[in-house]
Amino acid sequence: MPLKVIDGIRNLTFEEDLSAFLQQLGGPTLIRLQGRDSSRRRAFCTLLHGNEPSGARALYAYLRSGETPAVDLDLIIASIPAALAPPAFSQRMLPGQRDLNRCFRPPFDDSQGKLAEAILRFLHDSKPECLIDLHNTSGSGPAFGVAIRCDADHRALTSLWTNDLIVTDLRLGALMEISELDVPTVTIECGGAQDETSLLIAREGMQRYFSSEQVLAAAGHDYGVNRFRNPIRMELKPGRRVHYGDDADPDAALTLPLDAARFNYGSVPAGERLAILGKAGLDALTAKDHLGKERLHDHFAAINGRLSPKHPLKLFMVTTNPIIATTDCLFYFIDCANT
Ligand SMILES: [Zn+2]
Repeated sequence: MPLKVIDGIRNLTFEEDLSAFLQQLGGPTLIRLQGRDSSRRRAFCTLLHGNEPSGARALYAYLRSGETPAVDLDLIIASIPAALAPPAFSQRMLPGQRDLNRCFRPPFDDSQGKLAEAILRFLHDSKPECLIDLHNTSGSGPAFGVAIRCDADHRALTSLWTNDLIVTDLRLGALMEISELDVPTVTIECGGAQDETSLLIAREGMQRYFSSEQVLAAAGHDYGVNRFRNPIRMELKPGRRVHYGDDADPDAALTLPLDAARFNYGSVPAGERLAILGKAGLDALTAKDHLGKERLHDHFAAINGRLSPKHPLKLFMVTTNPIIATTDCLFYFIDCANT
């Protein structure tokens, strides 16, 4: 089994830091904790990406406390080898491997696929009442939830961490897409790995998720969660390159400012200069919606060689990591008029 199972924390050592704790676990691990009410169980997953440690740090603090949760818990800590590859917590996945959170759909034939399949099979068989998958955002930014449904249970789960929920019909092979067949699932992005507030947000939400008698929706309760439907991915076309800096790189398809993560906060107005376009202008970019329709020119214009929104947009997951920008996407956006 690609997932090591540990029953309880009796045999684990807690004196040292998170890295030492993860060394002790050695590889992808499922820790099962007994709660006050063992007739129910909740699942929690974190560290699908090795460079997103806030969930594992918060979980480590919780396990050290020795607290008894409200119900039984199944705690999955996934990409431990990637997280421990030096320097610790710098790699999303090990070199040559696929992004684990794109592997939760067939084929399951490589090591990442087999781990994803084992996690899905475990969730299917153990039947938790809900699942939270906790991540850090790629760049600095506020916390938000992501789900494929936005009914009252999903809003209730989101509200344990944040008031913003992205609802997406896009299918990438992420855990929440398939686990949703068995269990209400919300992905929580608790802010950037370097943001001071991320660990606090992760810990406080986790405390509520683990210790509350009820985390699914209570009848008639309004959770006050804002919903954002179907954000669009802004991507570089294949073979194009992004540069981060204050001066344009003439050979780059796009130059984004070093502090581009500030666009993650609030909304950006029409005409805002988001980036300097390269020689190919908008032709270097693509922004397809969840139906595969090109939407770039509906939302963006080239104004004096700058990439500018045509109307107010809300941006998510703006990254200044060129590897993520090239292999995943530059950022997600949504038309403020559609929120
Ligand atoms: Zn992630």
